[in-house]
Amino acid sequence: MKLLVATHNPGKLREYHDLLHALALEVTNLSHEAIDFEPEETGSTFAENAIIKASAFANRSGLLTLADDSGLEIDALGGAPGVQSARYGGTRRGQDVQRYQLVLRQLQGVPWAERAARFRCVVAVGTPDGQVETAEGILEGIIAFGPKGERGFGYDPIFFIPEFDCTMAELPPDVKNRISHRARAAEAAWPILEQHMGREM
Ligand code: IMP
Repeated sequence: MKLLVATHNPGKLREYHDLLHALALEVTNLSHEAIDFEPEETGSTFAENAIIKASAFANRSGLLTLADDSGLEIDALGGAPGVQSARYGGTRRGQDVQRYQLVLRQLQGVPWAERAARFRCVVAVGTPDGQVETAEGILEGIIAFGPKGERGFGYDPIFFIPEFDCTMAELPPDVKNRISHRARAAEAAWPILEQHMGREM
């Protein structure tokens, strides 16, 4: 059975490939299925946006579809960038550095003890007949005073994880894939995917 992982983000796609390889599902992606439309993310929560994407791509592809919405919530910024994480400050795809530099400027003068943040991910699993279910994962951390590390993507270089004493961008991919918000959401979504496996679409 095929599972469409519906994201245009190559970083996420790599991570889902690793996270889902143990499931007896043939993982495919949007470019492989020649799907290039993008539903508008009009939701005000990660869950609403994940559901919009999973439903739209399942309907368009006729496949069991996993979509997610994720982002960074910073307490000192009232939860921003939140659902705006991918386009914070009006920047477009591929402008990760500008986005995290904006966050660092906004937190100038904010002491370590007040820089708490978390990555949140909601995974939605949708079917062509309109069923959709969600699962969530969270990773707590602190916004560093400056970027460090070359791995990962997005806000990884400024997200410090006390438990590992380094930023997310310094973690080897196998460690990130074990502890990340996305790993936790994918793990929580396993029972949903297993329920669908073996069923006729
Ligand atoms: P989405 O593609 O709408 O879910 O947007 C997610 C955005 O949140 C990404 O473009 C990143 O800026 C940020 N983000 C989500 N997950 C991560 C992560 O694991 N590391 C760094 N940034 C992330």
